[in-house]
Amino acid sequence: MAEQKRDYYEVLGVSKTASDDELKKAYRKLAKQYHPDLNPGNAEAEQKFKEVNEAYEVLSDKDKRAKYDQFGHAGVDPNFGAGGFGGGGFGGFDMGDVDLGDIFGSFFGGGFGGFGGGQRQANPNAPKRGASLRVNMTITFEEAMRGVEKEISLNRTENCTTCHGSGCASGTTAEICPDCHGTGQVRIQRGAGGFAFTTTAPCSKCRGTGKIIHQPCPDCHGDGQVRRPRKIKVKIPAGIDDGQSISMRGQGNEGLNGGPAGDLLVNISVIPDPRFQRDGYDLYLEQKVSFTQAALGAELQIDTIDGKVKYNLPAGTQPGTTIRLRGKGVPNVHGRGRGDQYLLIKVQVPTNLTNEQRDALKEYARTMGEGSPAPATPVRDFFEKKRKKK
Ligand SMILES: [Zn+2]
Ligand SMILES: [Zn+2]
Repeated sequence: MAEQKRDYYEVLGVSKTASDDELKKAYRKLAKQYHPDLNPGNAEAEQKFKEVNEAYEVLSDKDKRAKYDQFGHAGVDPNFGAGGFGGGGFGGFDMGDVDLGDIFGSFFGGGFGGFGGGQRQANPNAPKRGASLRVNMTITFEEAMRGVEKEISLNRTENCTTCHGSGCASGTTAEICPDCHGTGQVRIQRGAGGFAFTTTAPCSKCRGTGKIIHQPCPDCHGDGQVRRPRKIKVKIPAGIDDGQSISMRGQGNEGLNGGPAGDLLVNISVIPDPRFQRDGYDLYLEQKVSFTQAALGAELQIDTIDGKVKYNLPAGTQPGTTIRLRGKGVPNVHGRGRGDQYLLIKVQVPTNLTNEQRDALKEYARTMGEGSPAPATPVRDFFEKKRKKK
């Protein structure tokens, strides 16, 4: 920026005492007049446009304006070491700072909001968080009940350890891309229905990275990152349910330019156990008993997730009775206790009776004063009810 700079007030055509409103008005008028989209291929207009923007950026900022008033260009020009604009780009002017939508909006009477390069383009060298990864894992019901540690094999993007992410061969550095001045974006003019406009596109010279690597790192070929196969241990807590996922912070792809790594999300599918039905932290088990066990009582061996447990079925247990085994359900995934297990008693009515058995039952019926079989009590289908609820 060795050329003579025009006075910012002169550029905007305002007095040194101009109010913010006056500045804004003048800026808008000139920005419209010189906007490259409205002056396609006009290098002079583009130059003026930059100048107007640079002037407005300084004068519209109270601090910068004060510095400018006191020290002139030396007060705000980054080349004088005083720290002013965003640097790079068009002599301190960043396309993203221009509210193009606003300009078009007032110019065309609205309807063009957000058109073209109104959005700020991200600096390609800003820290960027790595992508999160998602993997699916299927475990057995038992593993879900007890908790399990598994190993996942995956490929993830990591920073190259040879060049520490710079992408440059040892002892070399990257050059700021001369085409896009490090922004990674270039403006492209397109024609449409008699008027041309400008859009931004990734810079082809630097592939949008904003830098040119002359001697790429031999390991990452200049990318600064490499894909690596990794084995990652996943602790699956007891009590996890089908469809839940485990989030492992920072185990996803590593970030760019020092940004944080993404997460690894492990989606868990649980193969159901046909014996148990799960509802939250409670388990439901259908327990078949013979009608004599129900009538006389019996010592039952019950399936639980801890193995078989003894249960004394009281005499006279009715079909459809629900029995709660406290604390025999699913462990809380956060380690806070356990749910319960419920037994639904299903009384089996014998079929294929032997003559001896039939006679014994007839004798039993006679003692009950029953001439014909008593009407059956309908057994409510507990599981069916549960299924309907879902
Ligand atoms: Zn490298
Ligand atoms: Zn470039």
